Amino acid sequence: MIENKKIFKGLTLDELKVWCDENKLPKFRADQIFNWMYNYLVTDFNEMLNLSKDLRNKLSEEYTLNTLELIDSKSSDNNKTKKLIFKTSSEHFIESVIIPDQNRVTLCVSTQVGCPLDCQFCATGLMGYKKNLTSGEIFDQYAHAQRLTGNEITNIVYMGMGEPLLNFNNTLKSLEIFAEKVTEGISLKKITVSTAGIAPKILELAKSGLKSKLALSLHSCFEDIRSKIMPINNKYSLKENLNAVNFYAEQTGTRITFEYVMLKGLNDRKEDVKALISLSKRIPSKINIIPFNSLEHMNPSGFSAELKPTSKTKIEEFVDRLRNSNITVLVRDTQGDDIAAACGQLAIKY
Ligand code: SAH
Repeated sequence: MIENKKIFKGLTLDELKVWCDENKLPKFRADQIFNWMYNYLVTDFNEMLNLSKDLRNKLSEEYTLNTLELIDSKSSDNNKTKKLIFKTSSEHFIESVIIPDQNRVTLCVSTQVGCPLDCQFCATGLMGYKKNLTSGEIFDQYAHAQRLTGNEITNIVYMGMGEPLLNFNNTLKSLEIFAEKVTEGISLKKITVSTAGIAPKILELAKSGLKSKLALSLHSCFEDIRSKIMPINNKYSLKENLNAVNFYAEQTGTRITFEYVMLKGLNDRKEDVKALISLSKRIPSKINIIPFNSLEHMNPSGFSAELKPTSKTKIEEFVDRLRNSNITVLVRDTQGDDIAAACGQLAIKY
Protein backbone atom coordinates (compact mmCIF):
# COMPACT_ATOMS: atom_id res chain seq x y z
CA MET A 1 0.00 0.00 0.00
CA ILE A 2 1.19 3.50 -0.75
CA GLU A 3 0.74 5.72 2.28
CA ASN A 4 -1.22 8.90 2.15
CA LYS A 5 1.75 11.17 2.79
CA LYS A 6 3.46 13.84 0.79
CA ILE A 7 5.77 12.37 -1.81
CA PHE A 8 9.44 13.21 -1.58
CA LYS A 9 10.61 11.15 -4.54
CA GLY A 10 10.84 13.26 -7.67
CA LEU A 11 12.38 16.38 -6.15
CA THR A 12 15.47 17.49 -8.03
CA LEU A 13 18.68 18.42 -6.21
CA ASP A 14 17.84 22.12 -6.54
CA GLU A 15 14.37 21.53 -5.11
CA LEU A 16 15.85 19.53 -2.24
CA LYS A 17 18.16 22.45 -1.47
CA VAL A 18 15.20 24.82 -1.34
CA TRP A 19 13.43 22.34 0.95
CA CYS A 20 16.48 22.26 3.22
CA ASP A 21 16.50 26.07 3.33
CA GLU A 22 12.84 26.19 4.24
CA ASN A 23 13.40 23.64 6.98
CA LYS A 24 16.51 25.38 8.32
CA LEU A 25 18.79 22.51 7.39
CA PRO A 26 22.28 22.89 5.91
CA LYS A 27 22.51 22.42 2.14
CA PHE A 28 24.71 19.31 2.37
CA ARG A 29 21.68 17.46 3.72
CA ALA A 30 20.16 17.85 0.26
CA ASP A 31 23.12 16.01 -1.28
CA GLN A 32 22.86 13.27 1.31
CA ILE A 33 19.14 12.75 0.84
CA PHE A 34 19.54 12.89 -2.93
CA ASN A 35 22.20 10.22 -2.80
CA TRP A 36 20.11 7.86 -0.66
CA MET A 37 16.98 8.39 -2.69
CA TYR A 38 18.36 8.19 -6.22
CA ASN A 39 21.64 6.31 -5.99
CA TYR A 40 21.07 3.85 -3.16
CA LEU A 41 17.35 3.66 -3.99
CA VAL A 42 16.30 3.28 -0.36
CA THR A 43 12.58 2.95 0.30
CA ASP A 44 12.59 4.04 3.94
CA PHE A 45 13.95 7.25 5.47
CA ASN A 46 15.33 5.18 8.36
CA GLU A 47 17.89 3.70 5.98
CA MET A 48 19.41 7.17 5.47
CA LEU A 49 22.08 6.44 8.04
CA ASN A 50 24.00 9.73 7.96
CA LEU A 51 20.92 11.80 8.79
CA SER A 52 20.13 12.54 12.42
CA LYS A 53 17.50 10.40 14.09
CA ASP A 54 15.31 13.47 14.52
CA LEU A 55 15.45 14.32 10.86
CA ARG A 56 14.72 10.73 9.85
CA ASN A 57 11.69 10.72 12.14
CA LYS A 58 10.42 14.03 10.82
CA LEU A 59 10.80 12.83 7.23
CA SER A 60 9.09 9.49 7.95
CA GLU A 61 6.15 11.19 9.64
CA GLU A 62 5.44 13.66 6.88
CA TYR A 63 6.66 12.06 3.68
CA THR A 64 6.90 8.83 1.77
CA LEU A 65 9.54 7.67 -0.71
CA ASN A 66 7.29 5.23 -2.48
CA THR A 67 5.22 6.32 -5.43
CA LEU A 68 4.53 3.05 -7.22
CA GLU A 69 3.46 -0.36 -6.06
CA LEU A 70 4.67 -3.27 -8.18
CA ILE A 71 1.59 -5.43 -8.49
CA ASP A 72 2.46 -7.90 -11.22
CA SER A 73 5.14 -8.90 -13.69
CA LYS A 74 5.05 -11.11 -16.76
CA SER A 75 7.98 -12.71 -18.55
CA SER A 76 7.89 -13.55 -22.24
CA ASP A 77 8.17 -17.20 -23.35
CA ASN A 78 11.87 -16.84 -24.14
CA ASN A 79 12.23 -15.39 -20.64
CA LYS A 80 14.02 -12.32 -21.94
CA THR A 81 11.55 -9.46 -21.95
CA LYS A 82 9.76 -8.72 -18.71
CA LYS A 83 6.77 -6.45 -18.28
CA LEU A 84 6.23 -4.76 -14.92
CA ILE A 85 2.79 -3.55 -13.91
CA PHE A 86 2.55 -0.82 -11.29
CA LYS A 87 -0.24 0.87 -9.39
CA THR A 88 0.12 4.60 -8.73
CA SER A 89 -1.10 6.27 -5.53
CA SER A 90 -4.01 7.61 -7.60
CA GLU A 91 -4.95 3.96 -8.26
CA HIS A 92 -4.00 4.03 -11.94
CA PHE A 93 -2.01 1.28 -13.62
CA ILE A 94 1.09 1.73 -15.73
CA GLU A 95 3.62 -0.54 -17.36
CA SER A 96 7.38 -0.65 -17.87
CA VAL A 97 9.33 -3.20 -19.87
CA ILE A 98 12.81 -4.63 -19.21
CA ILE A 99 14.53 -5.68 -22.44
CA PRO A 100 17.87 -7.52 -22.16
CA ASP A 101 19.88 -7.50 -25.37
CA GLN A 102 23.45 -8.79 -25.78
CA ASN A 103 25.54 -6.52 -23.57
CA ARG A 104 22.87 -4.15 -22.36
CA VAL A 105 19.61 -4.15 -20.45
CA THR A 106 17.17 -1.47 -21.51
CA LEU A 107 14.28 -0.25 -19.44
CA CYS A 108 11.31 1.24 -21.28
CA VAL A 109 9.46 3.70 -19.03
CA SER A 110 6.01 5.27 -19.23
CA THR A 111 5.43 9.00 -18.75
CA GLN A 112 1.64 9.15 -18.77
CA VAL A 113 -1.26 6.91 -17.85
CA GLY A 114 -2.65 6.30 -21.32
CA CYS A 115 -1.94 8.87 -24.03
CA PRO A 116 -3.83 11.85 -25.49
CA LEU A 117 -2.39 11.32 -28.97
CA ASP A 118 -4.36 9.13 -31.24
CA CYS A 119 -1.67 7.39 -33.29
CA GLN A 120 -3.64 4.85 -35.25
CA PHE A 121 -1.11 2.03 -34.85
CA CYS A 122 -0.65 2.29 -31.07
CA ALA A 123 -2.54 0.42 -28.35
CA THR A 124 -1.86 3.04 -25.68
CA GLY A 125 -3.65 5.66 -27.81
CA LEU A 126 -6.70 3.44 -27.98
CA MET A 127 -7.07 3.48 -24.18
CA GLY A 128 -7.24 7.30 -24.03
CA TYR A 129 -5.49 9.67 -21.62
CA LYS A 130 -5.84 9.46 -17.82
CA LYS A 131 -3.05 11.49 -16.21
CA ASN A 132 0.55 12.68 -16.29
CA LEU A 133 3.01 10.71 -14.19
CA THR A 134 4.99 12.68 -11.62
CA SER A 135 8.79 12.86 -11.86
CA GLY A 136 8.92 10.50 -8.88
CA GLU A 137 6.68 7.99 -10.64
CA ILE A 138 8.87 8.13 -13.74
CA PHE A 139 12.01 7.64 -11.64
CA ASP A 140 10.48 4.87 -9.51
CA GLN A 141 9.99 2.63 -12.55
CA TYR A 142 13.78 2.65 -12.80
CA ALA A 143 14.23 2.13 -9.04
CA HIS A 144 11.97 -0.94 -9.08
CA ALA A 145 13.66 -2.33 -12.20
CA GLN A 146 17.11 -1.87 -10.66
CA ARG A 147 16.06 -3.69 -7.51
CA LEU A 148 14.47 -6.48 -9.50
CA THR A 149 17.45 -7.03 -11.80
CA GLY A 150 20.17 -6.45 -9.20
CA ASN A 151 21.25 -3.15 -10.77
CA GLU A 152 21.51 -4.44 -14.32
CA ILE A 153 19.74 -1.64 -16.16
CA THR A 154 22.19 0.09 -18.51
CA ASN A 155 19.88 2.13 -20.77
CA ILE A 156 16.52 3.85 -20.47
CA VAL A 157 14.10 4.66 -23.25
CA TYR A 158 11.11 6.94 -22.68
CA MET A 159 9.04 4.83 -25.04
CA GLY A 160 6.39 3.31 -22.80
CA MET A 161 2.88 4.64 -22.36
CA GLY A 162 2.33 8.32 -23.08
CA GLU A 163 3.95 11.25 -24.82
CA PRO A 164 6.92 12.48 -22.74
CA LEU A 165 6.92 15.97 -24.24
CA LEU A 166 3.28 16.52 -23.29
CA ASN A 167 4.34 15.84 -19.70
CA PHE A 168 7.28 18.14 -20.21
CA ASN A 169 8.08 19.39 -16.71
CA ASN A 170 8.02 15.98 -15.09
CA THR A 171 9.97 14.39 -17.92
CA LEU A 172 12.56 17.16 -17.63
CA LYS A 173 12.76 16.78 -13.85
CA SER A 174 13.31 13.04 -14.17
CA LEU A 175 16.12 13.70 -16.67
CA GLU A 176 17.63 16.26 -14.30
CA ILE A 177 17.66 13.60 -11.59
CA PHE A 178 19.44 11.11 -13.87
CA ALA A 179 21.85 13.83 -15.01
CA GLU A 180 22.74 14.61 -11.41
CA LYS A 181 23.53 11.09 -10.36
CA VAL A 182 27.02 10.93 -9.03
CA THR A 183 27.75 7.22 -8.55
CA GLU A 184 27.54 4.45 -11.15
CA GLY A 185 24.16 5.69 -12.31
CA ILE A 186 22.92 6.03 -15.83
CA SER A 187 24.22 8.98 -17.80
CA LEU A 188 22.01 10.94 -20.17
CA LYS A 189 23.99 9.44 -23.04
CA LYS A 190 22.24 6.18 -22.26
CA ILE A 191 18.79 7.72 -22.13
CA THR A 192 16.54 8.25 -25.15
CA VAL A 193 13.40 10.34 -25.05
CA SER A 194 10.98 9.38 -27.81
CA THR A 195 8.38 11.80 -29.11
CA ALA A 196 5.60 11.71 -31.66
CA GLY A 197 6.70 15.27 -32.51
CA ILE A 198 5.76 18.20 -30.29
CA ALA A 199 8.02 20.67 -32.11
CA PRO A 200 8.06 23.60 -29.60
CA LYS A 201 8.89 21.20 -26.76
CA ILE A 202 11.70 19.61 -28.78
CA LEU A 203 13.22 23.10 -29.04
CA GLU A 204 12.74 23.63 -25.31
CA LEU A 205 14.39 20.31 -24.51
CA ALA A 206 17.29 21.23 -26.79
CA LYS A 207 17.74 24.50 -24.89
CA SER A 208 17.53 22.84 -21.46
CA GLY A 209 21.16 21.77 -21.67
CA LEU A 210 20.23 18.18 -20.77
CA LYS A 211 21.84 16.17 -23.50
CA SER A 212 19.78 13.03 -23.60
CA LYS A 213 19.25 11.31 -26.91
CA LEU A 214 16.13 12.06 -28.89
CA ALA A 215 14.00 9.78 -31.04
CA LEU A 216 11.30 11.06 -33.36
CA SER A 217 8.49 8.70 -34.26
CA LEU A 218 8.60 9.48 -37.95
CA HIS A 219 6.65 6.69 -39.67
CA SER A 220 6.27 8.64 -42.92
CA CYS A 221 8.18 11.38 -44.73
CA PHE A 222 4.97 12.63 -46.33
CA GLU A 223 2.77 15.12 -44.47
CA ASP A 224 -0.56 13.71 -45.72
CA ILE A 225 0.21 10.08 -44.85
CA ARG A 226 1.75 11.05 -41.53
CA SER A 227 -1.35 13.06 -40.61
CA LYS A 228 -3.51 10.08 -41.40
CA ILE A 229 -1.62 7.71 -39.10
CA MET A 230 -0.64 10.33 -36.49
CA PRO A 231 -3.30 13.07 -36.13
CA ILE A 232 -0.88 15.20 -34.04
CA ASN A 233 0.86 15.92 -37.36
CA ASN A 234 -2.05 18.29 -38.18
CA LYS A 235 -0.99 20.44 -35.24
CA TYR A 236 2.80 20.17 -35.48
CA SER A 237 3.76 19.40 -39.04
CA LEU A 238 6.58 17.12 -40.06
CA LYS A 239 8.40 20.10 -41.50
CA GLU A 240 8.28 21.91 -38.14
CA ASN A 241 9.40 18.77 -36.30
CA LEU A 242 12.28 18.10 -38.66
CA ASN A 243 13.54 21.65 -38.16
CA ALA A 244 13.24 21.12 -34.41
CA VAL A 245 15.13 17.82 -34.34
CA ASN A 246 17.83 19.27 -36.56
CA PHE A 247 18.26 22.05 -34.01
CA TYR A 248 18.29 19.41 -31.25
CA ALA A 249 21.08 17.49 -33.01
CA GLU A 250 23.10 20.70 -33.42
CA GLN A 251 22.63 21.84 -29.83
CA THR A 252 23.40 18.49 -28.20
CA GLY A 253 25.89 17.00 -30.64
CA THR A 254 23.80 13.83 -30.78
CA ARG A 255 22.30 11.88 -33.64
CA ILE A 256 18.52 11.71 -33.90
CA THR A 257 16.87 8.30 -34.08
CA PHE A 258 13.99 8.15 -36.55
CA GLU A 259 11.57 5.44 -35.51
CA TYR A 260 9.68 3.89 -38.38
CA VAL A 261 6.93 1.31 -37.90
CA MET A 262 6.51 -0.64 -41.14
CA LEU A 263 2.92 -0.44 -42.33
CA LYS A 264 1.91 -2.34 -45.45
CA GLY A 265 1.22 -0.13 -48.45
CA LEU A 266 1.42 3.06 -46.39
CA ASN A 267 5.09 3.73 -45.76
CA ASP A 268 6.95 0.77 -47.30
CA ARG A 269 6.92 1.91 -50.96
CA LYS A 270 9.83 2.87 -53.23
CA GLU A 271 9.12 6.58 -52.78
CA ASP A 272 9.30 6.08 -49.01
CA VAL A 273 12.82 4.65 -49.27
CA LYS A 274 13.85 7.58 -51.46
CA ALA A 275 12.40 10.14 -49.07
CA LEU A 276 14.10 8.46 -46.09
CA ILE A 277 17.44 8.51 -47.86
CA SER A 278 17.21 12.21 -48.61
CA LEU A 279 16.06 12.98 -45.06
CA SER A 280 18.97 10.99 -43.59
CA LYS A 281 21.42 13.01 -45.66
CA ARG A 282 20.00 16.26 -44.24
CA ILE A 283 19.89 15.47 -40.51
CA PRO A 284 22.51 13.65 -38.39
CA SER A 285 20.50 10.53 -37.68
CA LYS A 286 19.97 6.81 -37.77
CA ILE A 287 16.83 4.87 -38.58
CA ASN A 288 15.15 2.40 -36.33
CA ILE A 289 12.87 0.11 -38.33
CA ILE A 290 10.10 -1.43 -36.22
CA PRO A 291 7.93 -4.31 -37.41
CA PHE A 292 4.30 -3.41 -36.72
CA ASN A 293 3.01 -5.19 -33.64
CA SER A 294 -0.57 -6.30 -33.78
CA LEU A 295 -3.25 -4.38 -31.89
CA GLU A 296 -5.70 -7.24 -32.02
CA HIS A 297 -5.78 -7.56 -28.23
CA MET A 298 -7.43 -4.10 -28.23
CA ASN A 299 -10.17 -4.89 -30.82
CA PRO A 300 -9.45 -1.75 -32.86
CA SER A 301 -12.03 -0.24 -35.20
CA GLY A 302 -11.96 2.19 -38.15
CA PHE A 303 -8.62 3.01 -39.80
CA SER A 304 -6.67 1.33 -36.95
CA ALA A 305 -8.29 -2.01 -37.82
CA GLU A 306 -7.14 -1.73 -41.44
CA LEU A 307 -3.43 -1.44 -40.65
CA LYS A 308 -1.34 -4.43 -41.71
CA PRO A 309 2.33 -5.25 -41.10
CA THR A 310 4.82 -5.16 -43.96
CA SER A 311 6.05 -8.71 -44.63
CA LYS A 312 9.45 -9.81 -43.37
CA THR A 313 10.93 -10.10 -46.86
CA LYS A 314 9.64 -6.68 -47.82
CA ILE A 315 11.18 -5.19 -44.65
CA GLU A 316 14.51 -6.83 -45.56
CA GLU A 317 14.40 -5.33 -49.07
CA PHE A 318 13.51 -1.92 -47.64
CA VAL A 319 16.39 -2.08 -45.16
CA ASP A 320 18.85 -3.27 -47.82
CA ARG A 321 17.99 -0.29 -49.99
CA LEU A 322 18.62 2.08 -47.09
CA ARG A 323 21.88 0.38 -46.16
CA ASN A 324 23.07 0.50 -49.77
CA SER A 325 22.90 4.27 -49.42
CA ASN A 326 25.17 4.10 -46.38
CA ILE A 327 22.45 4.83 -43.88
CA THR A 328 22.68 3.44 -40.35
CA VAL A 329 19.64 1.24 -39.90
CA LEU A 330 18.67 -0.86 -36.96
CA VAL A 331 15.82 -3.34 -37.13
CA ARG A 332 14.12 -3.65 -33.80
CA ASP A 333 13.21 -7.11 -32.48
CA THR A 334 9.58 -7.70 -31.75
CA GLN A 335 10.41 -8.79 -28.25
CA GLY A 336 7.65 -9.41 -25.79
CA ASP A 337 4.83 -9.73 -28.31
CA ASP A 338 3.44 -12.76 -26.45
CA ILE A 339 2.92 -10.72 -23.26
CA ALA A 340 1.72 -7.56 -25.07
CA ALA A 341 4.92 -5.79 -24.01
CA ALA A 342 6.24 -4.95 -27.46
CA CYS A 343 6.31 -1.38 -28.82
CA GLY A 344 2.90 0.16 -28.93
CA GLN A 345 1.18 -2.72 -27.18
CA LEU A 346 1.16 -1.24 -23.70
CA ALA A 347 -2.36 -0.65 -22.54
CA ILE A 348 -3.79 -1.72 -19.30
CA LYS A 349 -6.79 -3.92 -19.09
CA TYR A 350 -6.85 -3.97 -15.30
N1 SAH B 1 4.77 8.98 -27.54
C1 SAH B 1 6.13 8.63 -27.78
C2 SAH B 1 6.62 7.42 -27.02
C3 SAH B 1 5.73 6.18 -27.03
S1 SAH B 1 5.71 5.20 -28.46
C4 SAH B 1 6.35 8.45 -29.27
O1 SAH B 1 5.39 8.48 -30.02
O2 SAH B 1 7.49 8.32 -29.70
C5 SAH B 1 7.21 4.39 -28.56
C6 SAH B 1 7.48 3.79 -29.95
O3 SAH B 1 6.66 2.66 -30.23
C7 SAH B 1 7.18 4.81 -31.04
O4 SAH B 1 8.16 4.85 -32.01
C8 SAH B 1 5.91 4.26 -31.61
O5 SAH B 1 5.71 4.72 -32.86
C9 SAH B 1 6.13 2.77 -31.51
N2 SAH B 1 4.89 2.01 -31.68
C10 SAH B 1 3.66 2.38 -31.31
N3 SAH B 1 2.75 1.44 -31.66
C11 SAH B 1 3.43 0.44 -32.26
C12 SAH B 1 3.04 -0.82 -32.81
N4 SAH B 1 1.77 -1.24 -32.80
N5 SAH B 1 4.00 -1.60 -33.34
C13 SAH B 1 5.29 -1.21 -33.32
N6 SAH B 1 5.71 -0.05 -32.80
C14 SAH B 1 4.79 0.79 -32.28
